This record gives sequence, structure tokens and C-alpha cells, in this order.
Amino acid sequence: MNDFNNNSLDKTLDEKIKKTAELIKDSKSIVALTGAGMSTESGIPDFRSPGTGIWEKIDPMKFASIDSFIKGLDLDELINLISDLDITSIFTSEPNEGHKALAELETINKLEGIITQNVDMLHQKAGCKNVIEIHGSMKTASCLRCNKKIEFDEFLAETIEQQKIPPKCPCGGIIKPDVVFFGEMLPKKALSRSIEYVSRCDMLLAIGSSLVVYPVSSLPRLAKEHGAKLVIINIEKTPYDNVADVVIHGKIGTVLPRVVKEVKRLMK
Ligand code: NAD
Repeated sequence: MNDFNNNSLDKTLDEKIKKTAELIKDSKSIVALTGAGMSTESGIPDFRSPGTGIWEKIDPMKFASIDSFIKGLDLDELINLISDLDITSIFTSEPNEGHKALAELETINKLEGIITQNVDMLHQKAGCKNVIEIHGSMKTASCLRCNKKIEFDEFLAETIEQQKIPPKCPCGGIIKPDVVFFGEMLPKKALSRSIEYVSRCDMLLAIGSSLVVYPVSSLPRLAKEHGAKLVIINIEKTPYDNVADVVIHGKIGTVLPRVVKEVKRLMK
């Protein structure tokens, strides 16, 4: 009985991979929308996965809201938290098979761009050229008063030297990592480019995102309203599963390379 179930599951997965590859082959403008699930196989925990998601361990409003950041965080508490959650993995992680598969899709002209909610820069590290970082990135930090931009390493050095988070800029303003905190607006240019891409693509690949964080969560609806095909690859269900053209509940690092292999076979 179990064997029968496993076989039929494999068959369904094969069919879904094939269908996704056919849609990719037939589409002219494909955009990927990626979330934290894209990088869990590189060792970076996501926010919402049961058991491993960061939000099960910390209060997001205490550590990731702009109001609490400006008020000031307890440095010792933050250092303990960073080591408990292995957050520094963001700086040492390498792209996984999923990142590499998307880069390959771009190379064969089957991916126009990636809109990512991730701040880990792994798409670029995998070789992707056109990446919109809609929630910013951990590459730099900026002064909220004079807008001076510094590398993230300098931000860390200032934090250690001043023994204070947030550290102060020489102008007296607060220096903040260039990632979007809760309660902040998204970078205007990244948001408007994302809306433009999604409105004119004919296929949206939503990968490794719970699709619940607004306003990114509205992008799949926008794509559908403009007639695009929607494919979702995510371990868990998402609020868009019932309107998607294909839904694959599987691991990105396993599924995406198989999709790309099939696309290349179809395009021969
Ligand atoms: P999320 O945590 O809400 O959802 C991640 C989804 O990915 C979950 O539904 C989970 O089931 C799925 N998933 C996890 N591992 C997977 C895998 N290997 N294969 C397939 N699916 C997998 O993340 P989100 O939707 O991106 O939104 C939350 C916020 O998290 C974003 O704003 C993002 O900025 C931030 N974030 C980024 C990173 C990063 O840069 N790597 C890490 C944690 C959180």
C-alpha cells in the first residue's frame, strides 16, 4: 500500500515538473518571486517554518521593528540571539542547487528577473544578474539622517566600537542596516520595478515563500490579473495554491534542478 502511494506521489511530481517545464518553454517573460525558503537548504533559517522558523524563537516586534531598533536594542541580548539562531550564516552561506538552477534559467534566457524578499545576496552569488531586492540586503547600512552608506562590515565595526546598537553616524544620525524592518516602507524603486515586472510577465514562479508578507503577497494576484501563469514551489501550502496553474509541495533544491533539466530537454 505504501509503495503504491509513494509511486503515485512520484508520478504526480513528475507530471507537475513536466507541466512547469512546458509552461516555461512556452512563456516569453518569466519572473521569479523568491522567499526565505529559497535559502533554508543553504543553512539560513526562514521565518515561518514549523519547528525551525525564527519567529518561533523570538518576538519579531522586539528585534525586527523599526520602532524598537530606533529606541535601541540590548547589545548583549542581541549578540546571544545572533549566536543562538546562527544568523551569521547569512554571511558564510553558499548558494544551493535551487539558486544555481535559477541562475541557469537566466543564462538560457528563460528568466527575465528575480524579485527576492531575501537579504542574503545568494542569488547574485549564484550568478544571477537581474535581482530586485525588495526587502533590501545585508550588504550595506545607511545613516537615517545624512543618508551616508557604509559596508555592513563597517556597521558591525561601529557597533562594536560604540558598544551600542544602533550605532551613531559622525553626523549624529542613527545607522541602520539596509534591510526593511517591520513598520518601514519598502524601497520605492524596488517596489515599482517589481510591480512593473509582475504586470507584464506571462509567467510568475513563486518559490519558497509563505506569500503572506504584504505587499509582496499581493504580487501573485497582480500577475494573475494580468493573465500570467502562476507556478508555486513551496513545502507548505500558500494562500494562492487554489488559483495557481501548478503547485509543487516539495524541496526547492530537489525540484528546481529537475524543472530546469526538463526545460533544457524540451528546448533542444
Ligand atoms: P517565510 O518564512 O514566511 O516562508 C518561507 C516558506 O518557505 C515557508 O512556507 C516554508 O514552508 C518554505 N520552505 C522552507 N524551506 C523550503 C525548501 N527547502 N523548499 C521549499 N519550500 C521551503 O518567508 P518569506 O515568505 O520570504 O517572508 C518572510 C520574510 O523573511 C521576508 O521578508 C524575508 O525578507 C525574510 N527572511 C529572509 C531570509 C534570507 O534572506 N534568507 C531569511 C529569513 C527571513
